[in-house]
Amino acid sequence: MFSCKESFKQSFLKRLERLCGKSFHDSSKLDQYQTLSMMVREYISSNWIGTNEQSRSNQNKQTYYLSIEFLLGRLLGQNLLNLGVRGIVQRGLGELGISLDDIEETEIDAGLGNGGLGRLAACFLDSLASLDLPGHGMGIRYKHGFFEQKIVDGHQVELPEQWLKHGYVWEIRNADQAVCVYFGGEVKMAQEGGRLRFWNENAEVITAVPHDIPVIGYKTKTINTLRLWNAEPCSLQHEQNILKYKLDTEAVSECLYPDDTHDEGKVLRLKQQYFLVSASLQSIVKSYKKNHRSLYDFHKKVSIHINDTHPALAVPELMRILLDEEKMTWEEAWYITVHTISYTNHTTLAEALEKWRIDLFKPLLPRIFMIVEEINERFCEWLWEKYPGDWDRIEKLAIIAHGEVKMAHLAIVGSYSVNGVANIHSNILKEREMNGFYTVFPSKFNNKTNGMSHRRWLLKANPPLADLITEAIGDKWIKDPESLLELQPYAHDAAFIESFQKIKRQRKQILSDIIKNSTGFAVHPDSIFDVQVKRLHAYKRQLLNVIHMMYLYNRLKDDSAFSIYPQTFIFGAKASPTYHYAKKIIKLIHSVAHKVNHDPEVRHSMNVIFMENYRVSSAERIFPASDVSEQISAASKEASGTGNMKFMINGALTIGTHDGANIEMLERVGPDCIYTFGLKADEVLHYGEKGGYRSREYYQHDARIRQAADQLISGFFEGEADEFEQIYDSLLAHNDEYFVLKDFASYAEAQERIQKDYRNKRLWAEKAVTNIAHAGYFSSDRTIREYADDIWGIKPHPR
Ligand SMILES: *Cc1c(COP(=O)(O)O)cnc(C)c1O
Repeated sequence: MFSCKESFKQSFLKRLERLCGKSFHDSSKLDQYQTLSMMVREYISSNWIGTNEQSRSNQNKQTYYLSIEFLLGRLLGQNLLNLGVRGIVQRGLGELGISLDDIEETEIDAGLGNGGLGRLAACFLDSLASLDLPGHGMGIRYKHGFFEQKIVDGHQVELPEQWLKHGYVWEIRNADQAVCVYFGGEVKMAQEGGRLRFWNENAEVITAVPHDIPVIGYKTKTINTLRLWNAEPCSLQHEQNILKYKLDTEAVSECLYPDDTHDEGKVLRLKQQYFLVSASLQSIVKSYKKNHRSLYDFHKKVSIHINDTHPALAVPELMRILLDEEKMTWEEAWYITVHTISYTNHTTLAEALEKWRIDLFKPLLPRIFMIVEEINERFCEWLWEKYPGDWDRIEKLAIIAHGEVKMAHLAIVGSYSVNGVANIHSNILKEREMNGFYTVFPSKFNNKTNGMSHRRWLLKANPPLADLITEAIGDKWIKDPESLLELQPYAHDAAFIESFQKIKRQRKQILSDIIKNSTGFAVHPDSIFDVQVKRLHAYKRQLLNVIHMMYLYNRLKDDSAFSIYPQTFIFGAKASPTYHYAKKIIKLIHSVAHKVNHDPEVRHSMNVIFMENYRVSSAERIFPASDVSEQISAASKEASGTGNMKFMINGALTIGTHDGANIEMLERVGPDCIYTFGLKADEVLHYGEKGGYRSREYYQHDARIRQAADQLISGFFEGEADEFEQIYDSLLAHNDEYFVLKDFASYAEAQERIQKDYRNKRLWAEKAVTNIAHAGYFSSDRTIREYADDIWGIKPHPR
């Protein structure tokens, strides 16, 4: 049906009528989108079945990637590209008078994630399938994904997201493979055949129904599966209050929790975590048992990866299955568990390290709590034998302490591999945050620097640039991204540079049109597009960027000798609904934008734009149109970042701190092709521990800072005199936790270098091409190969 344009057109028209019950002329864009997507599903079905049969046979070791978030975005365009049929479809539809781009635009983003962590999981799925690796995702089918952001008078307003409102063509509901998940109740035990048997009575039962999404690799027959669990009532229940039971049950997969670094320890979140883990492990074990009598070799054929600590209950849940259902001894079960599970740490921010109060945990998961207690007791005993009398160490490393269960400790003790997500982050884990565990389990710790799918963020997001690269070096970079290095000589090829500049200009024009349509404001595509898009968080320091914009504005107003190359500052960011400080920053960006964009003396030199509802599909328009990538976190706080890599592969130059993967980008492109500034991680950590920083001194000694800070509380932004007091206080009364004022001068100096360098268009483009040439390392293909080889022990199985 995709073999040629003519047969595609015929199949499309026939299916459209059958599926929608309308003639082509009466069909809507949505009908056309759904028809085309169903055709893709039909087209891949035999390969999906084939891949499933291969994995069910359990000849090959399989990896299951458990993640509370998968930030997929849209699937149609990527699937057509990966199947190699996008050209045929585009031409066929063109002859029917339809634009494929328009049809792709009707797909609603699957936004089942908050940001970097969830998008990483989505990129990993693409790489696993494209590399023919047997790896599958497991997550939750939230009815409402990440909230939709509206801006009203400069304030963020959250609307519930409705990605399922037209149904979801990519999923298949497999109700026959549903499993039951048990909450609450009482644990009973009895002697049976010389051992204790445990079971649960009066538990609340929730049915987990799998919805499977095919994961289509790039030009391969491998079709892996993303299994998302939906929470539904159990029909067998004789509940007193049926309606309440139904609502309580469905609540478990109703909403994505907004924010992975600011959550509030709500019992519903813990319920989601166990729901994901229990459903996933039951289904993995069931499928394994179809071909194996016992689970004694489970770890040789199955690896289970937990993306951060949200699925850390996989440790006690696997123990429960092996102990209570498979009747293994503790030692047998533990050996298998710690040889099955591996864990990625994503952050060292204290507020983001998950802990659950025992008084929430124990009543909700009584048997799981017993198992965690036993794991903890045995671990503490083992420590006591290794380090007799060392109470301090035991207190620090215990899984349960001070009335709380520490999920990172559970994940480390219960897994064979613990990895950080960039070199610097992994080193901070080993040397500082998890040093106690590194001392007792040195061989568990390793690094896997994050990556992004270059097929989504370059091939799909920026087709003209992808074509230009292919013209120059051939198309092998699509399967082998590190061969982008062959582009390096083209940094000095006049024709290539000119084409690159033309493409960048086109992409800036497209983004300008989008900005004009959504905000009504016209930005100039010849200005420097300086972009900061990412979640809004104090440690990411959008405020540093804002203070610098305020300084530029003030200087342009006050100093008639001062001029700049026109620069457009573009922001996109969602703030967690309860994170009031972050919401104030959004408001501040809008207030500065209002001032700057309406000032006739300034608006030709600088503009400030906030793009509402930043998400995967808008990101695909933003990265290709960027000149400057803002990666300005307080050093040591951003574990890796992946947005930085998406900018890089689209030829934006980074202004960044010595943090996360920025450091590895610098190592590759060299100091002339990246604008680094600011405190180093060890300096930030040293101040954090020992003190010695006084933000007030920077306020007193730097007039630029003083003027901007004073404007926060002076009524400079008319009518909102006390609006930004909290921000002012964070900088001065609370001593500027993230060193915004300390790094200001260094940041302003780096911006001056950018101002100077951008004027030499040729040199700038050379640096941009050098960045693209070195971006292949940051493909998730490289990251996934490392996970497969060093952690999971899985091999490619092309079909
Ligand atoms: C890549 C990505 C992120 C992560 O960006 P960082 O700059 O690494 O924080 C967040 N949201 C979306 C939509 C993304 O595509």
